[in-house]
Amino acid sequence: VSNLEAAAELAVCDGPALATEPVFELVESRPVVLTPRRWTDADGAAAEDELTVLRYLPGKGRRMVGAWCFLDYYGPAVISADVGMQVPPHPHCGLQTISWLLSGAIQHTDSLGSDVVLRPGQLGLMTAGHGIAHAERSPDQRPPVLHGVQLWVALPESVREGLPAFDHVAEPPKLTLDGVSATVILGEFGGVAASAPVHTPIVGADIDLPGNALSTLKLRPDWEYAVLVTRGSAEIEGQLMHPAAMAYLGCGRSELTMQSELGGRVLLIGGEPFGEELVMWWNFVARSHDEIVVAREEWMEGQRFGAVSDSEGPLAAPPIPPVRLKPRGRS
Ligand code: MN
Repeated sequence: VSNLEAAAELAVCDGPALATEPVFELVESRPVVLTPRRWTDADGAAAEDELTVLRYLPGKGRRMVGAWCFLDYYGPAVISADVGMQVPPHPHCGLQTISWLLSGAIQHTDSLGSDVVLRPGQLGLMTAGHGIAHAERSPDQRPPVLHGVQLWVALPESVREGLPAFDHVAEPPKLTLDGVSATVILGEFGGVAASAPVHTPIVGADIDLPGNALSTLKLRPDWEYAVLVTRGSAEIEGQLMHPAAMAYLGCGRSELTMQSELGGRVLLIGGEPFGEELVMWWNFVARSHDEIVVAREEWMEGQRFGAVSDSEGPLAAPPIPPVRLKPRGRS
């Protein structure tokens, strides 16, 4: 997913710092149009078939959770009568993108030559390193309902300028814990480690709560966590949450209770608080304003990020904001 917000400076990631103690804060989302396509129909009325996603991170509230620095949630949306998700080639650097579907299919193509159709339960992990470009599209042959998340993970200094890579993990590990089943998308959860490469202590897990579930999951008190309800409803630490509700949980928890009367599905993200200061702008994660300026110039000049085989040309980067982007940390 590309950050198409006109006001890309919003992604400067302002917001309160890390909570070192347990908190329960609902994280607000804002709608972002991913695929704007407007036209005038036969009756002269304005029509559109855009796909709108909900952006939770970065936001005005807590701006990171561990190394997780971006979270878009989309659907469930019926896309059989429209174009679905259509994101033309765009660049990334200094981060990993995580694509995780609950329904539907997305075709990922990138400047390494990857061409993969991602399906529910499969992880698409793109490690941008110094630079990569990709496109994400609803394939021509696709299920009618699109539902999923895209997240970004900031890469630490030691690897952020490394070589790009794409990993398609067809069967991430699953486990059963205290009556609930979970898929470990990224990192480690419940003693089970996912195979996909990560560079900071982190977890991403898709937790399926059966009806009448009451479960207590072990957390690490030195990590911070957040949860997003993706189906049904769940009581997290006794707080009722409906679909698309996200809560930031802070640090300092050794366990988390999850309850669901009718069944639900919850994405858990967490990790060691990220210790480095970041500058996030458009699709780039860097350490300084000047690095962002260079990345933008190199993209616009067709350098560094490679070319993607796609039906459309590359997305143009928005102009650099008139103020200098300041690196921001968590504490
Ligand atoms: Mn992207």
